Amino acid sequence: MDQPQFAYFEGKIVPFGEAKVSVATHAFNYGTAVFGGLRGYWNEEQKRLFVFRPWDHYHRLIQSARLISIDSKFDEETLIQLTMDLLRANNWQRDMYIRPMFYKSDTGIGVRLHDLKDELTIWTVPFQKYIKNDTNAHVTFSSWRRIDDNVIPARGKVSGAYVNSALAKTDAALSGFDEALVLDQNGHVSEGSAMNVFMVRNGIVITPPVNDNILEGITRRSVIELLQKEMGMQIVERSIDRTELPIAEEFFMTGTAAQVVAITKVDHRPIGTGAMGPVVTKLRDMFEDVVRGRNQKYSHWNMAV
Ligand code: PMP
Repeated sequence: MDQPQFAYFEGKIVPFGEAKVSVATHAFNYGTAVFGGLRGYWNEEQKRLFVFRPWDHYHRLIQSARLISIDSKFDEETLIQLTMDLLRANNWQRDMYIRPMFYKSDTGIGVRLHDLKDELTIWTVPFQKYIKNDTNAHVTFSSWRRIDDNVIPARGKVSGAYVNSALAKTDAALSGFDEALVLDQNGHVSEGSAMNVFMVRNGIVITPPVNDNILEGITRRSVIELLQKEMGMQIVERSIDRTELPIAEEFFMTGTAAQVVAITKVDHRPIGTGAMGPVVTKLRDMFEDVVRGRNQKYSHWNMAV
């Protein structure tokens, strides 16, 4: 089964093909929607599907909604319940992705955020690897700059803002790279097209702070905790200059779709030895165990369907 059977659409679970909006929908015309992205991980031994940190994802979705004047009307628990109902209806027994979205649903002309109706949809789809070379990714500095928080809220997942990510990703992919590295307006390393970044320098893990125009990633938050508590690493949140990368020991990206990806080359310069380093190697294994519900200590991050 590759096609979703059902979606949640404007108040109820409907056959997937019936979850459709008009061409005149405000969100379709102006990008006035916010979305989330969660993963469901199939645990073959237990024959169970685990959703990773649903409360955190829905908390961020509600906050993203607030940023563009959408009143979610649902709290985190209700959104989780709707998701669980939908997952049970679809009966996925494989790794998959969950896409909830709040959107301005009125039809008609007029750029604004006020006096518009808001709706919710959730759809799900089978999902595997997002970045093929996830142990040796080769990335490039994009010529596109990351959206600035004074242009479109950068810390939320605003649909229209993803044209910025798409420009960076397509230019990198069509030039033969695995992913783009995007600088912010100040020239600091901000993110990938849909992932946060981490550098290991002099044995310390460094990642840009939430006020460097990054998305406040759930994987980022999870990885920070694992690195500190399980690997005893020191984490520093500070801006990263582009010329720090060629002299760093390790560099990696994190995201729900990408998971934990080792970057071994940036443009024409190798990172560290040019092969996946020990910190990211260990972190990837640990992360995989955690998300599949194999690590009891972090079982509170997983919700069984
Ligand atoms: N940055 C951007 C722009 C993203 O779209 C994503 C994916 N949601 C991330 C970072 C990583 O965030 P998360 O770990 O919550 O998926």
